[in-house]
Amino acid sequence: MQKLVYADNAATTPLSAAARKAMLPWLENAFGNPSALYAPGHAARKAVEQARDAIADCLGCSSEEIYFTSCGTESDNWAVKGMALQQAKIGKKHLVTSAFEHHAVLHACKALEPYGFSVTCLPVSTTGFITPEALEAALTPDTALVSIMTANNELGTVQPVSELAAVCRKHGVLFHTDAVQAVGHLPLSVHRQGIDLLSLSAHKFGGPKGTGVLYVRRGLHPVPLLDGGAQEQGSRGGTENVAGIVGMAAALQERTASLQADAARIRTLRDRLEAGLCSAIPDCRRNGGAERLPGHLNLLFKGIEGESLLLLLDREGICASSGSACTAGSTDPSHVLLAIGLTREQARSSVRFSLGVETTDADVERMLQVVTDAVKRLRNFQPF
Ligand code: PLP
Repeated sequence: MQKLVYADNAATTPLSAAARKAMLPWLENAFGNPSALYAPGHAARKAVEQARDAIADCLGCSSEEIYFTSCGTESDNWAVKGMALQQAKIGKKHLVTSAFEHHAVLHACKALEPYGFSVTCLPVSTTGFITPEALEAALTPDTALVSIMTANNELGTVQPVSELAAVCRKHGVLFHTDAVQAVGHLPLSVHRQGIDLLSLSAHKFGGPKGTGVLYVRRGLHPVPLLDGGAQEQGSRGGTENVAGIVGMAAALQERTASLQADAARIRTLRDRLEAGLCSAIPDCRRNGGAERLPGHLNLLFKGIEGESLLLLLDREGICASSGSACTAGSTDPSHVLLAIGLTREQARSSVRFSLGVETTDADVERMLQVVTDAVKRLRNFQPF
């Protein structure tokens, strides 16, 4: 049987061995509630706080600025809604984001509109970037918060986060970044980069699903989304996911330690895949600029239905993604690809390959062969 070729690391990543090892005791005998006042509780509390210290260290901030959440979506919602509600108390009800954010940010902003908030969506360049100049022009005295992602999930394009944060700082506006795709893949340092709030999600860097973090700069107090117990400094009720938190910290530490070497190796594989496919397949080109995360490759195969290509690849044991959302039987083209100026048809003809730490030379060789054949077959089927 053919080995599975997993090229959808931007969707999720396999659990790393380090994360699994760190989690196991907390899934087996060590089950105490970290808030309990007896030995198993103290042990769980210690593990959670050690994980907090380790994550703070990787992000360049202090431990009390790390808040554990259930996922990247929760972190984004909390940053946007929590800060918007906080800022509304001083009369600021304008939000700035961009047209190609993840829906966790876009829909959180949209959800605030009926409550009197206005939202400006910055346009994205055809190569997938936001400029500090466009951001500065969008700010008003009423701007409460800016939320711009560090790296886009479909294109991988990396935004000039330090410059965007500096513009916000200059105008006294808070800056949140959805770094779900970037953490564990790019060097980040929240204090040095002037970031006020940052979202991350463990399952994008070898940690478990259902565990995330919101970094909140000291002195800021987003209104809680989850009222309940006094966990997370009284700001996010809910018994901590001890195993998840411990696994997230182990994965992030491991990934951070080998980040440069992994990035160089993955980028070489990705570039080989890109060059090979673009030379072997006529009318095949990359979506988005070259300045991007090491593993991302989003390709437009002219005249091909992306979903059909994915089905053929799946039959050959290759996992990739189209970025489109299937709703009620119809396929909506990706809002990210539309935002960089692709037509609906071009967006539907695009496929994302995202390589990761486990991708091998043999995986790339197999993708080169299978994708080239599959595109040929589809083009022979569909006259255009
Ligand atoms: N933000 C970005 C950029 C993402 O890529 C994702 C997940 O794909 C999320 C947020 C949501 O993260 P989670 O799956 O942990 O809710």
